[in-house]
Amino acid sequence: MSTLLSSLLSLRWFALGDGLSDAEPRPALRYPISPMPRVAVLGWHFAPARNLRCLPQWNAKQLEACRPEALAASPAELLLVAALRRDGALRLPALDYPLVALLRENETPLAESQLDELYTLFGLPVHQQIRNSEGRLLAYDCLAGSGFHIAREGISLPGMTPALEICACGDPAPRLRQAGRARAAGAIL
Ligand SMILES: [Zn+2]
Repeated sequence: MSTLLSSLLSLRWFALGDGLSDAEPRPALRYPISPMPRVAVLGWHFAPARNLRCLPQWNAKQLEACRPEALAASPAELLLVAALRRDGALRLPALDYPLVALLRENETPLAESQLDELYTLFGLPVHQQIRNSEGRLLAYDCLAGSGFHIAREGISLPGMTPALEICACGDPAPRLRQAGRARAAGAIL
């Protein structure tokens, strides 16, 4: 394994959602497909659910033991997983469902080129969710590729403006879309 990967693996990842007291319910992962496949969540804590395994800190052995069919993690951790697989240090043969990139509140959504890079690395579509420091969902990308649907009022995303028309995906939640262009709807599941 490369030195870079070894040092990355030794990092203690800050798990969002850890700021909640035990009395507060943890937010749920909103997986874009139902029923949810076996999902491993890296670096975040979500409410317990069938087929969901949260690994606030993880190593290759623990992740392999989950036999995940999908992953939900920060873009950086998705890239780390891809690098470990490429180096033969991590085997995830069951991975076969869309990935979820978990972004923090002030992070810019992934650009098309970054989504393309992840698609090339994993051969799987990547959806995006924006969550606050407690892990609560603020916005999630439209399954028809028409921007982001808003889960909590007040969020704004750089370069995006409110869309007024009803979304082609059928989701009635308010939506933000790229300013200045209406992207053609194209299902990516
Ligand atoms: Zn939509």
